[in-house]
Amino acid sequence: MRNEVLTFNTNCPECNAPASTNMKLVQIPHFKEVIIMATNCDDCGHRTNEVKSGGATEELGTKITLHLTDLSDMSRDLLKSETCSILIPELEFELGMAAVGGKFTTLEGLLKDIKDLIVSKNPFTCGDSSTSDRTEKLKLFGQKIDKIMAGDMDVHIVLDDPAGNSYLQNVYAPDPDPEMTTEKYTRTFEQNEDLGLNDMKTEGYQE
Ligand SMILES: [Zn+2]
Repeated sequence: MRNEVLTFNTNCPECNAPASTNMKLVQIPHFKEVIIMATNCDDCGHRTNEVKSGGATEELGTKITLHLTDLSDMSRDLLKSETCSILIPELEFELGMAAVGGKFTTLEGLLKDIKDLIVSKNPFTCGDSSTSDRTEKLKLFGQKIDKIMAGDMDVHIVLDDPAGNSYLQNVYAPDPDPEMTTEKYTRTFEQNEDLGLNDMKTEGYQE
């Protein structure tokens, strides 16, 4: 099915109108093949794209750290799997693995999603005076994300994926990227538990 788009009928997750989903197998350079499913709703304009890494878990987890040094970093391709956490240490920000689904986007697209999720869709942003302190904090957070997207803030973006299925484009490939480090690590028992892998390994441990 390479380069072939499969289309099937679904319903819009937002307004439930009939919509169509396009499914495509995409080869990400220097990484691997993933399945991207995109749904566009003609009725309400809702758009989603979801990445499926095929359920395969890599031998090791991956922790990718990028130091943002240039506005062009925003257009780097990024694959965030379903199991990837996102961290911005300078903002003391961490988004757990279940918060946003798998996505193939750019760094800018990911930051927009984060802002959307934390600021715009947050039920506390339009509260009364008792929540005004929180509203102020969220507003400030949104402004900081804007600054990062404008290239005006010196921060690091960390993609931590215990399943090893996430990717951030190295614009210097095949040479190493001076601003990016990729650590491979052995998962802890707890991380294997989160991924549901411990149950699958029982055979090897039987005496
Ligand atoms: Zn819709």
